[in-house]
Amino acid sequence: MADDPVLAADDRAALMRRIRRLERDSRHKLNNLEFHRRRRAQLQQAVSDCLTCSICFDKFNIEESSPRALQCGHVVCLNCVRRLLEMKRRQHRLIYGGPLTGLPLVFLQCPTCNKDEIIFENQTEHSVQFHHPMLNVVIKFAGRPYLDDIEHPDWNRANVSDGNERAEELQLVIIALEQKINAMDEAEQREIQLHNDIDENAKPIKECARCQNQYHQAPRVLKCNHLLCSPCVNNSFASFNANEVAYALCPTCRQRNYYYQTDMRGTPFFQFIDASQLQ
Ligand SMILES: [Zn+2]
Ligand SMILES: [Zn+2]
Ligand SMILES: [Zn+2]
Ligand SMILES: [Zn+2]
Repeated sequence: MADDPVLAADDRAALMRRIRRLERDSRHKLNNLEFHRRRRAQLQQAVSDCLTCSICFDKFNIEESSPRALQCGHVVCLNCVRRLLEMKRRQHRLIYGGPLTGLPLVFLQCPTCNKDEIIFENQTEHSVQFHHPMLNVVIKFAGRPYLDDIEHPDWNRANVSDGNERAEELQLVIIALEQKINAMDEAEQREIQLHNDIDENAKPIKECARCQNQYHQAPRVLKCNHLLCSPCVNNSFASFNANEVAYALCPTCRQRNYYYQTDMRGTPFFQFIDASQLQ
């Protein structure tokens, strides 16, 4: 068995320089990857929180837990509307000794802000309409893995050599480092792609359809049930006189939403993705 060829000091120094450079690249890559991973996870969390019923904490879906818009701007799932309605009707029957045939209305109270929502006695929970921007997002995420986490291997394994390796061993260290950097590159691309997919799908609750700015404060729900950011709402009314009936043009359905100047000009919508919370 032949001995290893003696590794000349110069050759060894050259290999070690290459290893150190690759180690630096690899640390740099890892930082980038971590940045993109945090950014993706943060957006994923924000979307996931947004798509959760604030009463029962179930995830919204397109069936029994579909997102429903109360008139106050809060969103609850269909199941919760039904439960609230049943509870309210039971209370009324206890108080009045029968169904409210004499009274046409039930006041459903928003559990978050206590604002009353009027429901007629012959109406069911389905009369509380879908929250369309939210429903759009739910449909886009339904059955997709976008909200699952990505598992990464442990990239921190040390490749540092102890100074006594043979040339072949140093070459192997170099190959391992290069493979690690390539794998981190691919992982970073996957993170960026996933972030972009989530971002695109979350648009209806993340950015204004007119100015394309991300929401930094609660957008407004117009009468057509679409959203418009507060600056765009204010711009819409800027050219009208104080005593006029004015409208905001919905960028999504093109409907003119008329408001008196004294109106609130759309209800604030509380369940949105706040850009200031994101990286
Ligand atoms: Zn619910
Ligand atoms: Zn409310
Ligand atoms: Zn806007
Ligand atoms: Zn609209």
